[in-house]
Amino acid sequence: APFLKIEDLHVAVEGTEILKGFNLEIKGGEIHAIMGPNGTGKSTLASAIMGHPKYEITSGSITMDGEDVLEMEVDERAKAGLFLAMQYPSEISGITNADFLRSAINSKREEGDEISLMKFIRQLDEKMGLLEIDESFSHRYLNEGFSGGEKKRNEILQLLMLEPKIAILDEIDSGLDIDALKVVSQGVNAMRGSEFGCLIITHYQRLLNYITPDKVHVMMQGRIVKSGGSELATRLEAEGYDWIKEELGIED
Ligand code: ADP
Ligand code: MG
Ligand code: MG
Repeated sequence: APFLKIEDLHVAVEGTEILKGFNLEIKGGEIHAIMGPNGTGKSTLASAIMGHPKYEITSGSITMDGEDVLEMEVDERAKAGLFLAMQYPSEISGITNADFLRSAINSKREEGDEISLMKFIRQLDEKMGLLEIDESFSHRYLNEGFSGGEKKRNEILQLLMLEPKIAILDEIDSGLDIDALKVVSQGVNAMRGSEFGCLIITHYQRLLNYITPDKVHVMMQGRIVKSGGSELATRLEAEGYDWIKEELGIED
């Protein structure tokens, strides 16, 4: 089963240290959720895993199945089986959704082993059906004029089509109405299995009513300060973060 391991990660943005000794292990079959107040470094973590050049790894390590992720180019990270919703371009005119998905799939495969057009179309139809995406969608240009909800659905469609080993999903619930939230959750739940691990980053507990995480972590000031099961998310929803701050003696 796949295995993503993050050890004592320190990340700086423009000279300021944001992640301060972050540790996490995600194995295939597990869904983890990271929750935390705004500005604690959740998106910084996602960007660092993705290899965004603005995020400087000052120490620590990230490995995927024992391979050094920090040594990999962004496309190599995808090829190793990592998926980051944010790595996809926001808007490109002239490329349809279908073209983009097909080339993303093929760039993960070896030359000569490209997915056949028939197989691609069959899979695309199936996954679009699952996500209740209109047929016209595949011929539209990538993200052009998409609503917030359509962008999120498209990210989950990419997830289902690319079948990564480990996915990092940062705020896939933001701006979604309840129906879109259910559909997006259904997509993530469809990926569940021993060959798939997932990290869901969210500010709100709401999403976790539909995707039940195996483990919940609370992040504050650049590190995980508390871990538990899905009941931890429920308590955070009811009581906020203050009790954790008090428990740990953290001041804002
Ligand atoms: P979260 O996702 O938990 O809300 P972020 O990772 O977005 O937190 O931000 C953590 C801190 O890092 C914030 O103080 C933010 O201002 C800073 N930061 C993150 N990304 C950048 C960036 N690209 N440029 C400057 N500061 C950044
Ligand atoms: Mg933020
Ligand atoms: Mg964020």
